[in-house]
Amino acid sequence: MAELQTEPVVVIGLGRFGSALARELVERGTEVLGIDNRPKLVQSMVGQIPHVITADTTDIEALRQLGVAEFNRAVVAIGTDIQASILTTSLLSELGIADIWAKAISEQHGKILERVGAHHVVAPEHDMGERVAHLLSGRILDYVEVDADFAVIKTKPPRDVVGIPLRDSKLRSRWDVTVVAVKPQAAMAGRQPGFTYATPDTVLNYGDLILVVGAIDAVERFAATE
Ligand code: ADP
Repeated sequence: MAELQTEPVVVIGLGRFGSALARELVERGTEVLGIDNRPKLVQSMVGQIPHVITADTTDIEALRQLGVAEFNRAVVAIGTDIQASILTTSLLSELGIADIWAKAISEQHGKILERVGAHHVVAPEHDMGERVAHLLSGRILDYVEVDADFAVIKTKPPRDVVGIPLRDSKLRSRWDVTVVAVKPQAAMAGRQPGFTYATPDTVLNYGDLILVVGAIDAVERFAATE
């Protein structure tokens, strides 16, 4: 099993995303240095984030003085000010930080962040928008994109796969998806446990909840089947 990552993290930009991230890391026992250039905001974070400081992270001297170069991990959570986000990311790269995460507000922004040295680009607004669109579309009850082209969804089985063992359901050849877990309908009335792993012998019923994995197109097609 991979070791838990508890190495200290610098979080730059304590807007909605950065401050939520920093608080969550602190809660999980990770040491965090939070930096923002708005003194009032920084003041309001004292008490929530043990180490929080006002600085302009587009200034390499400020980064050096704060000892940012000693950290192996950093998150650039500046979004709106694209110039500051890009400059900060490139300075962190120049300082040799091994693991740089950066928030992008558009695809182009993300591409530039990768070019200037971000090792991971996250697009929380975009990803959440896509996720909510899937949920609003109706049949998908939960949706998590696990890679650019792969997703896990929670949905209900279409008519053609109900009442027969999964091994005979042609899930792979017809939709190219895999059912990994099932929560029988009866479980919702409290009579059975929640989700359990699906096996080739599992027989689905109408109304069961299932977790399905596959390419995004494939799981969408599957969920759209009546
Ligand atoms: P969110 O949508 O998550 O609130 P924002 O882009 O609005 O993201 O917020 C980013 C934060 O980054 C703001 O609090 C802002 O003060 C901070 N920030 C912007 N530029 C700099 C900079 N040069 N140095 C440090 N912090 C910065």
